[in-house]
Amino acid sequence: MSVLPRHLLPDSAEVAPDGSLRIGGCDVAALAEEYGTPLFVYDEDQLRDRCREAVAAFGDGVAYATKAFLCRAMARLAHEEGMHLDVASGGELAIALAAGVPADRLVLHGNNKSDDELLRAREVGVGRIVVDSFDELDRLDRLHAADGRVPKVLLRITPGVEAHTHEFVMTGQDDSKFGFGLKVGDAARAVERCRASASVELVGLHAHIGSQVFVAGFYEQAIEALAPFVAESGLAELSIGGGIGVAYVEGEEAPSITEWGAVVRDACAAAGITARVSAEPGRAIAAAAAITVYRVGTVKEVPGIRTFVACDGGFIDNPRPALYGSGYETFLPRSVDADRTETVRLVGKHCESGDVLVAEARVPPGLRVGDLIATPVTGAYGRTMGSNYNSLGRPAVVFASGGDARLVIRRETDEDLLATDVG
Ligand SMILES: *Cc1c(COP(=O)(O)O)cnc(C)c1O
Repeated sequence: MSVLPRHLLPDSAEVAPDGSLRIGGCDVAALAEEYGTPLFVYDEDQLRDRCREAVAAFGDGVAYATKAFLCRAMARLAHEEGMHLDVASGGELAIALAAGVPADRLVLHGNNKSDDELLRAREVGVGRIVVDSFDELDRLDRLHAADGRVPKVLLRITPGVEAHTHEFVMTGQDDSKFGFGLKVGDAARAVERCRASASVELVGLHAHIGSQVFVAGFYEQAIEALAPFVAESGLAELSIGGGIGVAYVEGEEAPSITEWGAVVRDACAAAGITARVSAEPGRAIAAAAAITVYRVGTVKEVPGIRTFVACDGGFIDNPRPALYGSGYETFLPRSVDADRTETVRLVGKHCESGDVLVAEARVPPGLRVGDLIATPVTGAYGRTMGSNYNSLGRPAVVFASGGDARLVIRRETDEDLLATDVG
């Protein structure tokens, strides 16, 4: 038997008597009919629950990493549930502000923040800027000379810990473009420089070891590596970053946010860290709350090779398989609990053979053109990492809760694609 494991579906997922899927009390096929496909369907209550869980696990100061999934509704939701927001670009900052999130609840990240980004962040008064380089400190000095503003900053420290995850999302090792190296002494030099500087108010330290980290023990290692430096600095705040993983496919297991928080708190206590400890989960808040629903347009059986099932989306709405070789499950929203006895390759509609969504997709027999097919756990780093390749518009996003669905991002149109084309 190969039935889709229920725990990969959003918390509110229910299977109706006819075998079809409901999320947030809404019939998924009806949503696809109303809003078109591809469609991201989020369980809004699950997003809220995860935000509350993060606040309970880490306390005030815990931030939602908006690059995982961002729109105004999401920014508002995370803010309403008590989270701060981590923004890593001027664009993310603009969306969070447009959502009405107070600037002092925002944390600005980035390894190469522009003058404009820093200027804007200081003007609106973001809560924290996480400084990543000496060049950034130079820029902050220059801006200070012009307007006298003194932002509160954290210093991003590279603890020299290799969290085992995909190399593209491993960020805590010595050989990293991020932060100030602990071992080479740059971290200590950056603290000294900030202390002697009138252009920043240094309030704490920050480390982010990577993303899709399954083993909470890597955080213990990072905390142990950082502890003497944190103690020496005497600074009041330590952010341990984000990165706790989520299960995408059958057989994977990941710590919950609550478990992760307990590991981090215990490790900090054991290491004698008295600074206020916080974190920045993104994926763990958003990934498992959504599914992507596609419509099958072509089923091509290549004799002796395989069957290609082509849907109306592809690597522009989910680049993770092409980028990291990430795996996903597949299921049919009309028959959620069907035994998936056949293996096909789920591909998109883009002009490239790398446009694969699920290389070994398990599906029940009888899959046909016109069917809806869905991938679970697509709420993070899908739409936000997507593109407009082949000049196709990106999908719509709905939030479902209590039997109602609301459109939070509409589908992009040809007019949207032409909006920036001024030639
Ligand atoms: C990407 C990122 C996060 C969030 O990572 P997740 O894996 O989504 O939890 C948090 N902090 C920083 C600095 C990041 O770059």
